[in-house]
Amino acid sequence: MNIEIVTIGDELLLGFTIDTNAAHLARELAALGVRIVRRATCGDDADAIAAAVREALERTGAVITTGGLGPTADDMTKPAIGSIFGRGMVLDPDILVALEARWLKRFGHELPASNRQQAMVPERATILANRHGSAPGIWLEDDRQRWVAMLPGVPREMRGMLADTLIPQLRERLPVGGSVVRSKTLRTANIAESALADKLGDLARGVDGLSLAYLPGNDGVDLRLTSHGRPARDTEQRLTAAAQRVREKVGRFIYGEGDDDLAALMLAECAARNATIAVAESCTGGLLGMRLTAVPGSSRVVQGGTIAYANAVKVRELGVAQSDLDAHGAVSEPVARAMATGARLRFGTTIGIGITGIAGPDGGTPEKPVGTVWVAVDMDGEVHAVRAVLPGDRSEIRYRAAQLALDRLRRAFEHDVDATGWTARG
Ligand code: ATP
Ligand code: MG
Repeated sequence: MNIEIVTIGDELLLGFTIDTNAAHLARELAALGVRIVRRATCGDDADAIAAAVREALERTGAVITTGGLGPTADDMTKPAIGSIFGRGMVLDPDILVALEARWLKRFGHELPASNRQQAMVPERATILANRHGSAPGIWLEDDRQRWVAMLPGVPREMRGMLADTLIPQLRERLPVGGSVVRSKTLRTANIAESALADKLGDLARGVDGLSLAYLPGNDGVDLRLTSHGRPARDTEQRLTAAAQRVREKVGRFIYGEGDDDLAALMLAECAARNATIAVAESCTGGLLGMRLTAVPGSSRVVQGGTIAYANAVKVRELGVAQSDLDAHGAVSEPVARAMATGARLRFGTTIGIGITGIAGPDGGTPEKPVGTVWVAVDMDGEVHAVRAVLPGDRSEIRYRAAQLALDRLRRAFEHDVDATGWTARG
């Protein structure tokens, strides 16, 4: 099945809102075996909406729109698309009753006149229930089975309606055993793309007929395997087998799959071992603490931390020796080690993590260029430290330093502390 997407909203054209709806729809529908053959965006203008949807409908006969279903004057998706089908607008009594009940329950007063608008739908429309908000979605179809599904603009509501209502509906229309597009992502940390390609050797350009993409980001490089044009039933098995082959080559650089977050994985590991964490952060300024505490349930593991930006704070709060600072500088192995141990002892945890580095743009020297970071993990008194020269601008270096620290913790758990990556280049 071929579908076109039309996303609606001035804010999308102006670039104030990034069109995440189109991306989400494309991903979800590809997994189902639906091909998105074209995407368009238009402003909050009835003529523009009607023109974009009419053209799309003429090409594929199947269109999904998002946005412009709300109660305000700039929401004109329903009448604009209704007009293409030659349908006028009528009041849907069921929607009105539901809206009135929702308003009374949530706000304790009657439905404002502007919101009655949301109960107006094109004639002979099918209503797509919205459990996540007030504007229902609309399905319009003509006697040649050409259809348009109108979803809300708010991403959370759009995703909910897609999963609850539209995907089940589309599934019924799809041929059994039709081909689907599915992916599996392996997440790596602290290894450069080129080094990954070297390790992958023959597999670098694809694995058993599946494509392999390198997706570098601040978490590391993701390796995404994608299967195109095969039926769902053997796709999962092929992806699993291909992922296993990649794992054999890349091994310990892989920390997770899909959207696994290294901070969450490390917290789970700590919880399983009854370990607790304290952090001592210089160049990351609390970013590691932020990443750890962003994970629900982190309070079982994370005790606290120190942002030790100034040298005096490293000495006073963490017990770093002034003589080490004088002899080696703040960005050095002895200082990172002392920060990790200082955090562990002062917060009474089993693990202390220290990070010190030069995030730039100023402060680099030939010996310690911008991006130089030392990370140390003290685990029950055994300290492992690693140096890296991280690429990127200030914010990327800071984020990557926090990720490096988490990866070092992972390696410490696995007793795999000699392995390098960025560090090999540094
Ligand atoms: P509402 O009932 O809230 O008015 P709506 O269906 O009319 O819903 P819009 O008014 O178009 O939707 O958009 C609501 C919110 O969703 C806005 O904050 C908008 O920026 C956001 N939004 C709209 N379309 C998209 C999109 N394609 N991708 C991401 N966000 C979007
Ligand atoms: Mg709106």
